[in-house]
Amino acid sequence: MASHSGTHPLPSYLDPNHLGPWGVYLQQVDRVTPYLGSLARWVETLKRPKRALIVDVPIELDNGTIAHFEGYRVQHNTSRGPGKGGVRFHQDVTLSEVMALSAWMSIKNAAVNVPYGGAKGGIRVDPKTLSKGELERLTRRYTSEIGIIIGPSKDIPAPDVNTNGQIMAWMMDTYSMNVGSTATGVVTGKPVDLGGSLGRVEATGRGVFTVGVEAARLTGMPIEGARVAVQGFGNVGGTAGKLFADAGAKVVAVQDHTGSIQNDKGMDVTALLAHVQKTGGVGGFAGAEPMANDAFWGVACDILIPAALEGQITEHNAGKIQAKMVIEGANGPTTPEADDILHDKGVLVVPDVIANAGGVTVSYFEWVQDFSSFFWTEEEINARLVRIMKEAFAGVWHVAQDNKVSLRTATFIVACKRILHAREMRGLYP
Ligand code: NAD
Repeated sequence: MASHSGTHPLPSYLDPNHLGPWGVYLQQVDRVTPYLGSLARWVETLKRPKRALIVDVPIELDNGTIAHFEGYRVQHNTSRGPGKGGVRFHQDVTLSEVMALSAWMSIKNAAVNVPYGGAKGGIRVDPKTLSKGELERLTRRYTSEIGIIIGPSKDIPAPDVNTNGQIMAWMMDTYSMNVGSTATGVVTGKPVDLGGSLGRVEATGRGVFTVGVEAARLTGMPIEGARVAVQGFGNVGGTAGKLFADAGAKVVAVQDHTGSIQNDKGMDVTALLAHVQKTGGVGGFAGAEPMANDAFWGVACDILIPAALEGQITEHNAGKIQAKMVIEGANGPTTPEADDILHDKGVLVVPDVIANAGGVTVSYFEWVQDFSSFFWTEEEINARLVRIMKEAFAGVWHVAQDNKVSLRTATFIVACKRILHAREMRGLYP
């Protein structure tokens, strides 16, 4: 890894042998550095977070015992505006993961040109093991602990894996209690009755669908009849799957944490969403056949949408993928090795940092609406979302064509230049 003299290549709190997703992110930055021109002088800025906070989150469980959980909030970069990024509750959350996710938020926010830096948070916990009361106590204590660095003009959390509008409502309330006044703009993804935005729940999936349709148009693939496979059928995958089905595509395979299912004729996505709502997963859905989890990656399809967790498409399964296009709903689902394999096979990868930017775009609308206390219609929100996503995608597409690079590298070129240009103009303090 490149480093300037007088600086260390890695923050000392990371084990260089176990970099995890942060190592993937660093490789992505290295790939883009040759395209940054004179701004490459500042690239080290992108290779370390501005601020990383680790907090202890103790709560009393319903049985009277005290449990301690580890929580994080990382602000990767704030050159273009306040930190912005979700909060994840998952048993595998690590500092390296949250760092990478915060960095991808910097890239994403710059790619769609919303006035934010990048941040991310998380708690290392399996929330399915907690009662509602325990989950509320955990959320409130975590919010209080990270309260020293978040705020409507400092860093604005949002939902991510296993967090939702209810958790955002508890975060907003806790922060508001601590500062002494209702601060709706401290989080986005809130329920609509509490300053949330219409269209926010579906925004990420709608953005995935929008760029997918644009990529299909530019490559001459009809959406009508296209075969779609989706990994992860939660907020992002479920919404994207529904929109593709509504547009005439066939959802032929779905995988989530409860198993994998297939239906060559295309599934009834509305019925599948109802099944997931009722049972917690796609396993056991009557409108499809079960399939082996490994076989999911080799399923005959045109469009593959990874919308679960990072590190899912690797050198072990990338060779099996038959899709012509991968649209990354999840953050970091494809490793750099797998990226190369897909590139060599001629598979078009629409990267996370543009494909799933719809969520943060409508989060930005929510934040703007909260500040002005003036709320827009769902039609206005969706129209503005689609316009921003299409414009951002068109810009990235041209950079990719002009430089003969992948869409991922092109998105990083656009975003890193914006971030580092802001850094250069602001200069170093003192
Ligand atoms: P979610 O909790 O609503 O859904 C997650 C889905 O992933 C579920 O269907 C779950 O069953 C599945 N899953 C979990 N572990 C799995 C495994 N080991 N194998 C297969 N499937 C598994 O979460 P979400 O909000 O839909 O987020 C999904 C991805 O999209 C994450 O990478 C997240 O960071 C990213 N993302 C979300 C948003 C957003 O607005 N929600 C925005 C941008 C990116």
